[in-house]
Amino acid sequence: SLSVHGLSKSFGNRTLFSDVSLSVSRGEILGLVGPSGTGKSTLLRCMNLLETPTSGELQLAGQMLFKEKVLLDTKELIVLRRSLGMVFQHFNLFPNLSALDNVVLAQVQGLKRSRAEAEDRAVDLLTRVGLKNAINHRPSELSGGMQQRVAIARALALDPKVLLLDEPTSAIDPELRIEVRSVISELAEKDVTMVLVTHELDFVQRVATKVAFLADGGVVEVGSAQQVLRDPQHERTRRFLNAVK
Ligand code: ATP
Ligand code: MG
Repeated sequence: SLSVHGLSKSFGNRTLFSDVSLSVSRGEILGLVGPSGTGKSTLLRCMNLLETPTSGELQLAGQMLFKEKVLLDTKELIVLRRSLGMVFQHFNLFPNLSALDNVVLAQVQGLKRSRAEAEDRAVDLLTRVGLKNAINHRPSELSGGMQQRVAIARALALDPKVLLLDEPTSAIDPELRIEVRSVISELAEKDVTMVLVTHELDFVQRVATKVAFLADGGVVEVGSAQQVLRDPQHERTRRFLNAVK
């Protein structure tokens, strides 16, 4: 499992959040919701140390990765980022490579898999996200929803322990979001562990096993999706839910 304990992040003398304690166990899907600018993306980036926390602890599968300072060397950091697959709002695919090569390259470079083995795995994964017939297309020839599914396949190709998704559907045409949502739901059913940042509360309610509401510099409440989104205990959460309804 992945957990943070007492985590804080400041930029200069501005504290974005402090004392954040959250965990996601194997097979769980943790949804992170909250107003814009509260630091959801920053927290997600702290979870794979793309961003260095200011203080607190980060653990993955029982190993302490950060405790007041980064406890990994450069090589270990690279391995860590691989085991925490990240999917961004903007897909960050290589524009000059086909869908297949986007998924192959990460494996050949990152895991030193042979081209043949990486291709087998890439075809499997692209089939799984519904792109069997698009493997030779470049990103520019694919819709936003399809590009995001390639990005998800690419993240999965590295066999991550946890998949970190930052608003995976927000840059996509509303009508195409449904296909990305259903890929994520299927992964959830297959017990892929995920941390999902999204503004789509209906979706997070359906897919997340646990939801944390972040606002005003910290976690306001955390609980089951039903609890937090249907029966919130805090006025701050209720205000947020009423505002976005
Ligand atoms: P949104 O819902 O709009 O995506 P968010 O909750 O993901 O918002 P973040 O993107 O984490 O919020 O950013 C929170 C704040 O932290 C923003 O005000 C941003 O300006 C600030 N911030 C993020 N990264 C940096 C940085 N590298 N240096 C300085 N400030 C930063
Ligand atoms: Mg964000």
